[in-house]
Amino acid sequence: MPFKSLGLNPKLVQGVLAMGYGDPTPIQLRAIPVVLEGRDLIGSAQTGTGKTAAFALPVLQRLAKPAAKGPRVLVLEPTRELAAQVETAFRDLGRFTDFRAAVVHGGVGYGRQREALRNGTDVIIATVGRLMDFIQEGAIDLRNIEVLILDEVDRMLDMGFIRDVKRVVELCPKSRQTLFFSATVPPEIEAVAKFALKDPARIVIGRTQSVNESVKHAMFPVQYDQKFELLIALLEKEDFQSVIIFSRTKHGADKIARRLKKENHSVAVLHANRSQGQRTTALEGFKNGRYEIMVATDIAARGIDVTGVSHVINYDVPENPEDYVHRIGRTGRAMAVGDAYMLAVPEEGGDCHDIERFIGARIPQLTLDGFAYEGNRPPVVDTSRPFKNPMRSKKGQAQGRQGGGGRPGSGGGRQGGRPGGKSQAQGRGGKKPAGRGNPRGGSARSGPAPAPAKASPRSRLRRGR
Ligand code: AMP
Repeated sequence: MPFKSLGLNPKLVQGVLAMGYGDPTPIQLRAIPVVLEGRDLIGSAQTGTGKTAAFALPVLQRLAKPAAKGPRVLVLEPTRELAAQVETAFRDLGRFTDFRAAVVHGGVGYGRQREALRNGTDVIIATVGRLMDFIQEGAIDLRNIEVLILDEVDRMLDMGFIRDVKRVVELCPKSRQTLFFSATVPPEIEAVAKFALKDPARIVIGRTQSVNESVKHAMFPVQYDQKFELLIALLEKEDFQSVIIFSRTKHGADKIARRLKKENHSVAVLHANRSQGQRTTALEGFKNGRYEIMVATDIAARGIDVTGVSHVINYDVPENPEDYVHRIGRTGRAMAVGDAYMLAVPEEGGDCHDIERFIGARIPQLTLDGFAYEGNRPPVVDTSRPFKNPMRSKKGQAQGRQGGGGRPGSGGGRQGGRPGGKSQAQGRGGKKPAGRGNPRGGSARSGPAPAPAKASPRSRLRRGR
C-alpha cells in the first residue's frame, strides 16, 4: 500500500517522496491510520523500523488544522542525539507544510533554545531534564498540548527518568492523545503506559526482541589480550564503509579510539562525558564521512540514525541483552544490509548465552582467516549457561551503561571489576592479563597475521555517502 492510501495529505506524501521512501514500513502501515483516528497507541517496535515517521507524519497532519496558540505536540526522547534526530525527521517530512519546531535538550546553553520557545513553536522535542528546567522558569506551558509522544520509554526507564516523565504527563491536559513507543514492554513499562494512556491500540512489530532481519551477525571468539589486534585485523579484512564500534564504558571508548588513531584510522568518539559540542561534531563528522569509524557507548548511541552504517562491531559483549539489539539496530536500518560482529572472550559465554536467549537465535561463532590466534586456534565461547550475577539489578545495569561501574574489557581497560561480580582476572582463572601486545612475547603481529593497518588502503574504509 503506498503512502497516499494511508490518509495523509498530499503535502506530507510529497515530503515522504522527497525523503526517497518507497512504501511504508510495517509500523507505518499500522500506526499511521490509528494515530490519524486520534487514538492512543502503544507501539512496540525496535529502532530502525521507521517508527519516527510513523508518529511524525500523522502528527504533522494534525498540525495543519488551526488551533489554540502554544506548543501543541510534545515529544520526549531519552537522549540529546535522539531529540536532535527526531527534530530533523519532523523538518524533513514536513518540509512542504507549515509548522514550527523547537528542540530542547541539555549539554548546550539555554539561550538559543529559550529564544526559539519565545518565538513560538508548535512541536517541542525534548529530553526531560531541560524540559523541566524550562517549565520551571515558565518558558514552556504544556496546557495546550494535544499530542504527547513518549519515545523509547524502556530507555527512559533504564536511565532513571521515569519519575520526571510522569510529572510531565501530569502537566499535559487530560484530553490529549498519547503515543507510547518502547522496544519492549515489560511490566514496569506497562505500568507507565497504564498511567499515561487511555484505551490504547497496540501494535507489535515482529518479535520485539528480534534483531533486525537484514543484519548478519556473528561472534568472533578471541582471548582477551588479542582483542584489539583482532579488531584491527577485522577492519583490514572487511570491506567496511562506515563502522560503529561499541564499548561498554566511556573510558574504554576513549582507549579504543586512541589506539585506532595510532593505527591511522580517522575516528570519532561519542559518549556521555563529551561536551554537547564534541558530540555534535563527532556525529556530524561521522555522518558526512570525515570519520570512518565512530566509537560509542550505548547511552550516547541509543537510537542515532546514521544511514549507510555497514558494520557494527561490539568490542565488548554488551552487559544487557537489550543493548545488543539496540547496537545492532544501528546497521541494517530500514532493511538496508549490514553486518554486526561481536568480539567475545571465553569468560563472556554467560552474557552471550543471555543475548542468544533474548533474541531467540544462536550467534554463529566465526574464525578470522589468517589471524595469528594465540595457541594457533581461537578460544571457544561456551554459551550453554546463563551469566549469573545477583547484582545485575536494573539500577546496576543503568550505572554500568553509563560507564560508572562497567566491567573491564572495554577498550582493553583492565582496571575495575564487574559490579558486584568477579573481576576479569579472576574470571580468567586468576591469571593476570599479560602485557600489551602478543601474549607469546613476540611482536604484536607475527605469523600469518594481517599486515599493519598503516598499510591499509584507506579506500577500504571508504564511505558510501
Ligand atoms: P527510525 O526507526 O524512525 O529511526 O527510522 C530508521 C531509518 O529508516 C531512518 O533512516 C528513516 O529515514 C528510514 N525510513 C523510515 N521510513 C522509511 C520508509 N518507509 N522507507 C525507507 N526508509 C524509511
